[in-house]
Amino acid sequence: MAKVPPPLKEAYDFGLKKVSASEKTQKVTSVFERVASRYDLMNDVMSLGIHRLWKKWFVESLPLLQDGVYLDVAGGTGDIAQAIFERLNHFGFKAQVTVSDINPAMIDVGQKRYPHLSWVCSNAEDLPLKDNSIDVYTIAFGLRNVTRREKALQEAYRVLRPGGKFACLEFSQVLPPFQKLYDFYVFRIIPKMGEWVAQDKEAYQYLSESIQAFLTREELLELMRKVGFERARYETITGGIVALHVGYKL
Ligand code: SAM
Repeated sequence: MAKVPPPLKEAYDFGLKKVSASEKTQKVTSVFERVASRYDLMNDVMSLGIHRLWKKWFVESLPLLQDGVYLDVAGGTGDIAQAIFERLNHFGFKAQVTVSDINPAMIDVGQKRYPHLSWVCSNAEDLPLKDNSIDVYTIAFGLRNVTRREKALQEAYRVLRPGGKFACLEFSQVLPPFQKLYDFYVFRIIPKMGEWVAQDKEAYQYLSESIQAFLTREELLELMRKVGFERARYETITGGIVALHVGYKL
């Protein structure tokens, strides 16, 4: 008779599967290790370049602070941090911009491209940073990959100084009239593109499924409030495909 595995005490979504915490962290790490060298190209291909507009909108929503301390968590290859850095420079602001990511392979690609940024290899759930040390905490398309999301939000709250801003850009729920078309694109086309362009269908299957398995925007808002964020709110763009959640530590 086939052996039935015991139920997991704590189950975390890895795409549409439920796995243990350590398994999720290890599987997500493996996905981004495999895609690191083609990550940016694939982002352009899969989103038809639209991710650049989402990220521009995100960065332009952030405050410009003289001598500000900016932290981009799950920052991957650093494009958000670089856009923050360029915008601050453009307006003549001096600031410190740090990228943090759990994956050395992603950091390696980014660090070669943007050596002037500060880079930290760390888990969003356990940041090696002092309490009340950050003015602006950003996380873009990162939170759904984090195993213990509540812990990551608690860490965001801990490292932000009073008055500091939390901003999260993530995939969200598309408006009902676009649902069928969107599902077809995300669940059929994206894994195929992953197979053809990046020769890694499994990794892109995970990325598609993780979009489906992620919190609704109301659930994320609730979690932000639970860990203490004030004036928490969200807005959506591109028919709900992406949502921006913001909150403050007051
Ligand atoms: N922010 C970048 C962007 O917008 O292109 C990268 C987003 S990429 C989809 C997700 C990133 O989250 C990967 O670089 C991955 O290594 C990172 N990541 C996954 N789990 C993490 C964790 N627990 N802590 C920090 N980073 C994590």
